Amino acid sequence: MEVNTENIVKQFLYQGEPVAQQFPALHQSVYGKPLIYFDNAATTQKPYSVIHAISDYYSTINSNIHRGVHYLSQKATEAYEVSRNTVASFINARSSSEVIFTKGTTDGINLIADTFGSYAVNEGDSVIISAMEHHSNIVPWQIMCGKRGATLKVIPMNEAGELLMDEYEKLLDETVKIVAVTYVSNTLGTVNPVKKIIELAHLNGTPVLIDAAQAVQHISIDVQDLDCDFLAFSGHKMYGPTGIGILYGKEEWLEKLPPYQGGGDMIKTVTFKGTEYNDLPFKFEAGTPHIEGAITLKSAVDFITELGMDEISAFETGLLHYASTQVREIPRVEIIGNAIAKTSALSLSVKGVHPYDVGVLLDKMGIAVRTGHHCTQPVMDFYCIPGTVRLSFAVYNTTDEIDRFTESLQRAINMLV
Ligand code: PMP
Repeated sequence: MEVNTENIVKQFLYQGEPVAQQFPALHQSVYGKPLIYFDNAATTQKPYSVIHAISDYYSTINSNIHRGVHYLSQKATEAYEVSRNTVASFINARSSSEVIFTKGTTDGINLIADTFGSYAVNEGDSVIISAMEHHSNIVPWQIMCGKRGATLKVIPMNEAGELLMDEYEKLLDETVKIVAVTYVSNTLGTVNPVKKIIELAHLNGTPVLIDAAQAVQHISIDVQDLDCDFLAFSGHKMYGPTGIGILYGKEEWLEKLPPYQGGGDMIKTVTFKGTEYNDLPFKFEAGTPHIEGAITLKSAVDFITELGMDEISAFETGLLHYASTQVREIPRVEIIGNAIAKTSALSLSVKGVHPYDVGVLLDKMGIAVRTGHHCTQPVMDFYCIPGTVRLSFAVYNTTDEIDRFTESLQRAINMLV
């Protein structure tokens, strides 16, 4: 795609300053070179607001939630539930009882694969995923299918890295109990037509889980508009802490599904004869949760909201086009993933050179990229490559950094061939 790169915004401003100034970890040198961080799809850096919120939590209201009558426990419980409400509005959930705190995307998908599997999947049934799923959205379904005697069916993709929707329609039959697809591919950057995928599944009477790990930080998400049944994402990829994530589920589904784990907080009453489970969302939050993570996720959501999701999307799409245009000029470099709808992730293959070697040299030049299969081995098999060099953008990246990357990549290739 030909793009006019002249109008691309060079850097994102926050209160008149480059937004990167809000991220202390970016202001360091590695191997004597100023750090450029292009590994945002793996995890993002954290702004001061999140870092300070973590410190404030431990300096003031640290205590266990939902059980204490004392002041600190009440304050922590309140902050925990305020954060849940903030996330609910961020994704436009009907109610905060549809928002479950998890460890992250992987945890949320495992929760649904396990509970939905035992609720609805039997011998001879099937589950649909896509050819570009992260291992987190493959393996839990394989485990569940193995236990339940069900089959995993895969929506194929074309060379550009776009799902074949006609093939998807053909796969949708009465055996399909759930569809689980990624909104955005972490390797190819493809933005999948999830609304259409959901609509078609619903015509078949099938619920849909959306892996939003690579979408929630780049695209505005409205779960009611999408009409997805479940949606999972991670805090650490959206400027928040690690170890915390969100599973959204439609109330009617969450009410029906059995609990995932048993323990404290997910119960109303326990006797040796049996247990009455707690209401939503607590039914799915057994044990002491990641309280600090859940509370401070609010600061990450507030940060994104303040910057404006539409502005973030437009800016990052500009960076993607700018970088794509530049790398196309470099001999031997091929972009893996050329979907028309793309965001943020740019995967490169360099002819005759192993991606790992490129990554090591770039690292020595101060540039953090990810190399390898990015937990999408089937995607690597599809393109018959061992891995890619992946850049993935966040709001603090700049076109100047992309210029430095392009020069450094060219130098690395010269050294290696
Ligand atoms: N799905 C996608 C598309 C991802 O990119 C990732 C993280 N790379 C995951 C799922 C898993 O996320 P987490 O490791 O935070 O659970």
